[in-house]
Order: sequence, then C-alpha cells, then structure tokens
Amino acid sequence: MIRTILLGPPGAGKGTQAAIIVKNNNIPHISTGDIFRENIKNGTELGKRAQEYMSKGELVPDDLVIEIATTRLLEDDCKNGFILDGFPRTVHQAEELDKFLDEHGQEISVVINLEVPDDVLMKRLTGRRVCPKCGATFHIVGMPPKKEGICDICGAELIQRPDDNEETAGNRIEVYNRETKPLIDYYEKKGKIANIDGAAALEVASAAVAEALGG
Ligand code: ADP
Ligand code: ZN
Repeated sequence: MIRTILLGPPGAGKGTQAAIIVKNNNIPHISTGDIFRENIKNGTELGKRAQEYMSKGELVPDDLVIEIATTRLLEDDCKNGFILDGFPRTVHQAEELDKFLDEHGQEISVVINLEVPDDVLMKRLTGRRVCPKCGATFHIVGMPPKKEGICDICGAELIQRPDDNEETAGNRIEVYNRETKPLIDYYEKKGKIANIDGAAALEVASAAVAEALGG
C-alpha cells in the first residue's frame, strides 16, 4: 500500500512525479494547491480566503489547510493509498496529519524528498506554462508545446500561473526554506525519507521515485 508524501520546493517536480505515480498505481493525487486553485476558479469562500495568501506566495493558514486535507483523506478513494502533494508544508501540519492517520489506523509509507538547487527552481517556475483546461504543464525552454502557447493535449491556450512571476516565485522558495524544509528532519527522524535528485532527467528521477515506492 502506497501512502506517500511528495516533499520538495516549488518547481521540484512534485506534480509531474505525482502524475506518473498515478498512471502506474490506482491511487488518488491530492494536491492542496490544486484544491485551492479549483476553489478560486469557482469563486468559493475558501477560494477567496486562500487567494489572499497564494497571490503573495505565502502559506495558507494551517487550520484551513489541515481541514481541507483531512476532509479529502476521508473520502473512499483514499482507502487503498494516496499521494499527498504540497501537504504537509509546516511541522504543525505534519503533526496534525500524523494524528489523523494514527486515529484511522494508517501511516505514511515513505516521504519522497525531491532535491533541486534554488537557481534551477527559479528557471523552472518562471518558464512554466500550464493548461487551464486539462492541467498539463509545459516549460518554454525545457518542455515547449508543439505549437507555441497552445496545449498539446487539448488545444487550449496556455497560461502562466499568477504565482509563477519572479517576485512571487522567489518568495515561495524562501517560504519553503523557512517553513517546509524542517519537515525533512521531521520525517528523517521517523526513518521515512527517500532523497531523490529532482534536477536529474525526468525518466531518471521518476525511476528513482518508483524504486523508493517499492518498485
Ligand atoms: P508549488 O509547490 O509549486 O508552490 P502548490 O500548487 O503546491 O505549488 O501551492 C501553491 C500555493 O498554495 C502555495 O504557495 C500556498 O499559498 C498554497 N498552499 C498549498 N498547499 C499548502 C499547504 N499545505 N499549506 C499552506 N499553503 C498551501
Ligand atoms: Zn490542455
């Protein structure tokens, strides 16, 4: 049973790796960032609250995120495992997640820690383009779409995520280093960390991830 957390700075490739894991295992991909973006798109109250923080590259308050994530984890499709992407992001979130899993007789199998140097992250984030319709991700240099500005998969016009501009992306990396990096230590102490070179070629990184998840 795979119950994994994808840990790593913004731009480390968590979403990309999650999509590959989903393809090979029948478990849901839970991205708190995606949940918030969906709520922003739909104009919900939650979306409005989250957007205040997301637009500045700050973290959404713990209580709100914990509520959203644990509610999602209670759904039926999480019974046979899950991939958490972007949650937990603070030690408090991790402690609350552990409490929740404990209460439900579950535990994390492994934490995939994607390591990428800061300068590579900035290039990845500012060059990233996403499809607002199907969620596919491209990069203007590293993984350009066949036709400039157009999604290969569904033909929609690609956009830049509003928080991928240089200033906000830089702040997200700082916030990661300050608030989220301590989680490496937290899970290291529990013997759950698998370090993966997230700057390696995609196939190399995804093979290492698959191996860490048990082959
Ligand atoms: P990335 O990993 O590329 O920064 P995400 O899509 O995971 O992107 O997150 C985007 C934004 O959503 C974050 O910058 C933050 O504002 C908010 N967010 C997502 N998950 C969390 C979380 N677990 N705790 C606090 N804020 C979160
Ligand atoms: Zn698309």
